[in-house]
Amino acid sequence: MHQNGAFEHIDALAFDTLAVRAGQQRTNEQEHGDPIFPTSSFVYASAAEAASKFAGDEPGNIYSRFTNPTVQAFERRLAALEGGERCVATSSGMAAILATALALLEAGDEIVASRSLFGSTVSLFDKYLGKFGITTRYVELGNLEEWAAALTPKTRLLFAETPSNPMSEVVDIERLSKLAKEQGAWLAIDNCFLTPALQRPLQLGADLVIHSATKYLDGQGRAIGGAVVGRDKELEEVFGVVRTCGPCLSPFNAWIFLKGLETLGLRMKAQSANALQLAQWLEAHPAVAQVHYSGLASHPQHELASRQQQGFGAVLGVEIIGGRESAWSVIDATQLMSITGNLGDVKTTITHPATTTHGRLSDEQKAAAGIGEGLLRIAVGLEDAEDLKADMARGLDRLT
Ligand SMILES: *Cc1c(COP(=O)(O)O)cnc(C)c1O
Repeated sequence: MHQNGAFEHIDALAFDTLAVRAGQQRTNEQEHGDPIFPTSSFVYASAAEAASKFAGDEPGNIYSRFTNPTVQAFERRLAALEGGERCVATSSGMAAILATALALLEAGDEIVASRSLFGSTVSLFDKYLGKFGITTRYVELGNLEEWAAALTPKTRLLFAETPSNPMSEVVDIERLSKLAKEQGAWLAIDNCFLTPALQRPLQLGADLVIHSATKYLDGQGRAIGGAVVGRDKELEEVFGVVRTCGPCLSPFNAWIFLKGLETLGLRMKAQSANALQLAQWLEAHPAVAQVHYSGLASHPQHELASRQQQGFGAVLGVEIIGGRESAWSVIDATQLMSITGNLGDVKTTITHPATTTHGRLSDEQKAAAGIGEGLLRIAVGLEDAEDLKADMARGLDRLT
């Protein structure tokens, strides 16, 4: 029972327990660590067993594009952490979104999505799904009236990322899920920024949770991967797409993510605490116009974020007085933070969204998303908060 990770009362176990224990199934070797199965295919004891496994009469692995034991261990663990019936792992976060769309939507269907989405998600919706007759309408994340007004009888999917990047805007998931249900549409939440350690959208009424495992699930910037979590019914369709079309997760990356999940709770708490300290310190600095972080009392949706989330995450937006020149000088004065567009790492990263992650947006789109020339995004890691403040002070103090 507990020896193979198949817990009898999985619902009774706390998050941190599931993070280190859920999903493992030991082989006959009785290994303590999670095993890796780097194999493309599996063998059978007889022709009859092969026939029965291919026919689906008998469970078992056939080919690693379909199933692989290491990938399945990661899927079981993440499903347990999100409180979903089933998880399907994918080769990247984008593959998770693509597989969900291919599984659930068809030509003529409409998506309503928040405007502040990850850039590649917008391209996927507009450029690629658009080619197949699926159209997407964008609304302001936190504005439920705008969501309601955008829904039509053709709307099949509502898609949101909350909190948003880098402005830390939030949507009320419970209320949004009611809107989706009234319309007979699915609600998918990209839970990349908070992870199940700090927000469990399925419990708030969402139908699907999307992950880029590349970010906090791994936590150390080592591998690309993704996942979709939800009910058996929809996930069976997502599984069919991954199995047939091929964006499957490699066993080695699944193993890395299993290691990442073991420390997810600890990391998210520690990185959020660091982010709050840095946000409060930045907010008081005379060279800073504004800090966007849902953990700050000054954030317009602080009350909703406190209710809906178990923490505020580690990504913050900082407006530096003086526009691009000042913002760039603060970046260039850092000695510790990594100048990179990535996030979700134990190493703190800093970037200028207007000229990097959001550089392809038109001026109008940037204005709508609140991406100004003075804005910096910091994805706070596990370094000591005092060292991070000192790293920011190097550039900021010169501006005052
Ligand atoms: C990075 C990211 C993605 C895409 O994930 P990949 O693993 O890079 O494909 C999707 N959504 C959000 C919010 C992300 O930050």
